[in-house]
Amino acid sequence: MIERPVPEPGPGELLIAIASCGICRTDLHIADGDIEGALPIVPGHEVIGRVAVLGAGVDRFAVGDRVGVPWLGRTCGHCRYCRTGRENLCDDPSFTGFTRDGGFASHCIADARFCFPIPEAFGDVEAAPLFCAGLIGYRSLKLAGEGEALGVYGFGAAAHILAQVAVWQGRRVHAFTRPGDEPAQAFARSLGCASVQGSGDSPPEQLDAAIIFAPVGALVPEALRHVRKGGRVVCGGIHMSDIPSFPYRDLWGERSILSVANLTRADGEEFLSIAAQLPVTTRTQSFPLGQANEALELLRAGRIEGAAVLRP
Ligand SMILES: [Zn+2]
Ligand SMILES: [Zn+2]
Repeated sequence: MIERPVPEPGPGELLIAIASCGICRTDLHIADGDIEGALPIVPGHEVIGRVAVLGAGVDRFAVGDRVGVPWLGRTCGHCRYCRTGRENLCDDPSFTGFTRDGGFASHCIADARFCFPIPEAFGDVEAAPLFCAGLIGYRSLKLAGEGEALGVYGFGAAAHILAQVAVWQGRRVHAFTRPGDEPAQAFARSLGCASVQGSGDSPPEQLDAAIIFAPVGALVPEALRHVRKGGRVVCGGIHMSDIPSFPYRDLWGERSILSVANLTRADGEEFLSIAAQLPVTTRTQSFPLGQANEALELLRAGRIEGAAVLRP
């Protein structure tokens, strides 16, 4: 923990007094150097707080408003991706807690255009995991297509939210956890998953799509073997161990493998409105900010059920 002066918002920015910040596996990848960004950095990209100071020209929010800050901190607005509704792929983006300071702190600065109002239905801690686990999970679900039989590998923060949305949409969710991880399996069952098994096991039916949240490349060919013709394997994380080679026949039949990168603001608005409608229930374990390292260790060890959230 270090003391720093409270930053001042520039034009178009907000100073936010942080109430909570979720911990995402990406924070672990940043801390471990699996993905390289500018250091030192304050991690944390599931930030919930109240607007403390408005920068010049901000009219979307007022002082005291409760806002959420996601991973996508800013985009350039003029590259080919920004111009075609794919700002998640912007050529010159800035990412909260990765290329600009994030939410493992008492205060942060955010570009007001990329913040979201938080639905009333959610408390400060409960709302935090919606802002990456929820959002990325939702984008992964959209990219998985319309199929009804959906496999989900890695039953953590993202999967527990996505499963609720998918079940609500009338899909059958087949959860895959680390073999023998009884608490995760019981958790998946409690959320209405149609089946629950270890990651090396076969599901009871062929899958229309599989989403992989565990950072384990070997799960890609594994999932591909359970996906029917035309099906998709969606990799939901920012980092994975290498994917082992596999026979072409497993990909044949117009199966595809794709990754999910970042989010668009449209994804955010769509997801938050669905989350409030359901409403999604998030399972959280909260820690004081000073225990951020301990919480990261628990996440690394697979000992967080649902999502870990820090409170300053
Ligand atoms: Zn994240
Ligand atoms: Zn751009």
